[in-house]
Amino acid sequence: MRVLAIGAHPDDIELGCGGALLVHRRAGHDLSMLVMTGGERGPRGMTSRRAEQEEVASALGAELHWGGFTDGAVDAGHDAVGVIEAAIASSRADVIYTHGVADTHQDHRATAEATLAAGRRNARLLCYETPSSIAFAPHVYVDIDGLVEAKLDLLRMHLSQVLGSGPVDLEAVEAQARFRGHQGRVRHAEGFTTPRLLWEPDLFQAGAHVGDAAARHAAPGGRALLGAAGDRAHEAGAPAGDR
Ligand SMILES: [Zn+2]
Repeated sequence: MRVLAIGAHPDDIELGCGGALLVHRRAGHDLSMLVMTGGERGPRGMTSRRAEQEEVASALGAELHWGGFTDGAVDAGHDAVGVIEAAIASSRADVIYTHGVADTHQDHRATAEATLAAGRRNARLLCYETPSSIAFAPHVYVDIDGLVEAKLDLLRMHLSQVLGSGPVDLEAVEAQARFRGHQGRVRHAEGFTTPRLLWEPDLFQAGAHVGDAAARHAAPGGRALLGAAGDRAHEAGAPAGDR
């Protein structure tokens, strides 16, 4: 499967679907990311936000595309649709993750609307939540049990935002994963809305069980990051439920 995750700013993708991307990576899927702006209006740190995003893409083994828009000035018109169409074409995405349309941040709304237009021929579109989502009510869940610490590690790579930005609150991200998991009938999850999601009834092979940890850990890919995250969680004395 080929995956394209789209975000308005560095860190949006990780907040919204970082866990799902780790699941895709563990399954050996091809990952691409499109970040529409360099996030230059956000808090500044020792490293640039672009460098932080590049570090995440490298850790995930994802191909990173930049949209070239100015932070705060993404619009949902012709230019943004064109940039996203180009990313969809180059990634040959089977599934697209993007912002939800109901969001207080204008760049998030514009990115969501432009993705809906650019992805009009795609069968799988999943909209993620951010700290600025409005009345987000997911009806699709991705089981990220065992990957919450690895998701937090992705967010820690956005160090300028973790230190200088209220919305990137790792404690809240962890609590949200537990809450969405409770809603989704697993332990930890990310929640999504969707305008269109092609469901494949034969997705699971005979005898396979959704959420079968043994089967998941036998899948290729993702070992290095997951292993490192697990080790760190262990050293930090993290609760066993997240390993
Ligand atoms: Zn954002």
